[in-house]
Amino acid sequence: MATEDEPELAEDGPALGSADPGVGEEPAEAEVFAESSHLPGVPDAGGSGTSVPPVSEQNDRTRSETEPIPDQSGSGDSCGSNCGCKSNSESSQPTNASAADSTASTDGGRAIADGAGADAAGGTPTNVDENGELTNLTFTEPAEDKSQPLAGEGRGEATDPTDRPNMPGDAKLDTPGYGIRAKMNDIEEPDDKTWFMELDEGVIDAGRCIQCGTCVAACPSDSIGIGDDGLPELVKMCTGCSLCWDFCPRGGLRYERQWKITGGEDNVKGAGDPITEFSARVQDDWRHSSQDGGAVTGILIRLMEAGEIDGALIATESEEDPWKADGFMATSPEELIENTGTIYNQTMALGHLDFSKWEDKFEKDWDDISLALVGTPCEIEGIRALQDFEWEYGSQEEGVRAIDYTIALMCTKNFNYQKLIGEQLQEKRDIDIDNVGKMDVLHGKLMVDDLEGNQILEEDIENFHDAALKGCDECADFTGFCADITVGSVGSSDEYSSVIVRTEQGLDAWNLTKEVLDYHDLEDKSAVGKLQGWDKKKAFESLKRPFDPDAPRFIDYTDHVEQYGGELNPHEADH
Ligand SMILES: Cc1cc2nc3c(=O)[nH]c(=O)nc-3n(C[C@H](O)[C@H](O)[C@H](O)COP(=O)(O)OP(=O)(O)OC[C@H]3O[C@@H](n4cnc5c(N)ncnc54)[C@H](O)[C@@H]3O)c2cc1C
Ligand code: SF4
Ligand code: SF4
Repeated sequence: MATEDEPELAEDGPALGSADPGVGEEPAEAEVFAESSHLPGVPDAGGSGTSVPPVSEQNDRTRSETEPIPDQSGSGDSCGSNCGCKSNSESSQPTNASAADSTASTDGGRAIADGAGADAAGGTPTNVDENGELTNLTFTEPAEDKSQPLAGEGRGEATDPTDRPNMPGDAKLDTPGYGIRAKMNDIEEPDDKTWFMELDEGVIDAGRCIQCGTCVAACPSDSIGIGDDGLPELVKMCTGCSLCWDFCPRGGLRYERQWKITGGEDNVKGAGDPITEFSARVQDDWRHSSQDGGAVTGILIRLMEAGEIDGALIATESEEDPWKADGFMATSPEELIENTGTIYNQTMALGHLDFSKWEDKFEKDWDDISLALVGTPCEIEGIRALQDFEWEYGSQEEGVRAIDYTIALMCTKNFNYQKLIGEQLQEKRDIDIDNVGKMDVLHGKLMVDDLEGNQILEEDIENFHDAALKGCDECADFTGFCADITVGSVGSSDEYSSVIVRTEQGLDAWNLTKEVLDYHDLEDKSAVGKLQGWDKKKAFESLKRPFDPDAPRFIDYTDHVEQYGGELNPHEADH
């Protein structure tokens, strides 16, 4: 499948000809619904199966065709593809899913107060109109390279980038590790401080944590660790500095705002605003141990060989628990190759950025180390948000700053380790987990192969819905809007990875790697767009706050309680 005709890489546009809008573009609404009407109850958005199945007859396309990419199913059914989960959609109100794909109108629409949009039952956000357009749209240009809390309801005037909600007015944020705590000792405690207990109440105890580890990395006083249950826990005194709350993608961080701050105004429509997209696979023998085409590992190896990175924070299988993902700092191509493949649980990636943990792996000064981060899209949202701010992140400071390349793995949901592996596979289905060689979620099925490559399970993924992380339902970021490069299986034929190049940095990485790849234009963009659309639809149904890429980046805990319920001052009980 190698192609001699190397696609041209335009600097700031898709390489696929002007008629082809790329993965990031949205179809005209009529086209969306025209296509939706062809969908069976459970549409198959393609994947790395034996071939790329057409989503409908209309979508049976060749690479040279240039139809726009449908962004959503428009039906009330599941994605049926790499997720296949029906239960959420079925239990929720029908929603017009093209909301996020609407072009942001600068003249605004009906302005709805921040936080006033979701109905009490957690249904369709009311800032999405009947045509799926976002109604609360006043885009404020983010500052270059730096983020900024923006003016908005309840947030006052636009402020400088270091200003944040809940911070005592005179606290200096330059060195929060000590500055905040010192200040806290001297000042009367403001009413609106936000503590870890608030994060616990609103996210962790509420079962909404997606185990991204951002709170661990955000804490300037290293007060948050990772518990035996894989969830964040308080290991030291909390200063109430708010950072864990502010940066949590299920708490204070309005993740869809981060998409725009990182990727620009168009980085919210369709599957974002990519530069270009490919189906690719490495040509080395080790590819057979990879999940799809080995593109992720191939890119990391080339970056390492070229001296662009000293290491990559990836996943490895835990030494104690089979098929449990743990964060791992790979510093050689051999280590990267040893850790190919997908593990269907989170690593708390951003909780592994403390270099003292990896001290023996680096000879350089910590300040000089350059890294790549491979993670689920929520983890990439987290690191991007942290990197936008110049204050210190405790012992994770060097790690946060060292991430120069981010690779997101396409993701509709991830799983709780104990529930998926322990309860569902071992206990309920009597699967010998030590004998499992590969797991995959494809075409709406969970597939499990043994060590010899024989399939031992193929079952509807919806049967495993209860084992999924509940907080994933609120995630609309299937294609990793904040990443430099996104890689998945959907959209490419068997043994190829789908690669979306989103940033200049990503393009540099791609250009370094392409010579060792067998690649061609992304085979089925519509499949990617469709699954992204389904993912947004599911998120709109699950979010209890408005989905609003133009609202302020941070959400106050008090606003969160208004929408999600819960205790207003849980820290009072704990202090
Ligand atoms: C939870 C989850 C759900 C996914 N769902 C979809 C989906 O619905 N549709 C789709 O098209 N693709 C999905 N993917 C991505 C897909 O499974 C492959 O990871 C992707 O196509 C890359 O394949 P590859 O052969 O290029 O990667 P490889 O070369 O095999 O490299 C994979 C890299 O990812 C790292 N990794 C594995 N698991 C994790 C993890 N849990 N967290 C962080 N890093 C990890 C590995 O250590 C390795 O470095 C999902 C991935 C994950 C982790
Ligand atoms: S979702 Fe991420 S940031 Fe929020 S509590 Fe969980 S690990 Fe921390
Ligand atoms: S579905 Fe979203 S929130 Fe859940 S692991 Fe994947 S990227 Fe994170």
